[in-house]
Amino acid sequence: MTAASPPSPPKTTLHCSNCGHESAADGDWVVHERFDATSYGCPDCGVEITRRRRFDRPPVVASATTAAEAWTEAWTQSCVGWARLWRRLLA
Ligand SMILES: [Zn+2]
Repeated sequence: MTAASPPSPPKTTLHCSNCGHESAADGDWVVHERFDATSYGCPDCGVEITRRRRFDRPPVVASATTAAEAWTEAWTQSCVGWARLWRRLLA
């Protein structure tokens, strides 16, 4: 048994439990982009089918990480500068 040719990933089918409307996840659902999630509404009856967390775009975490990296970089550069100064003074 090999995994050389895996089958194409199955298309997720969503269906409305209220009216029975059925379509692929990227089908004709009414998509609402929210701050932290994407919600799918039924085009027939308007009921919200599902809601997905938006892991692809965590704005707060991303900027915090960038800030931390910038701070670490600045701190490292600062340490190198002080070390050089010390060496010059001690020499
Ligand atoms: Zn429906």
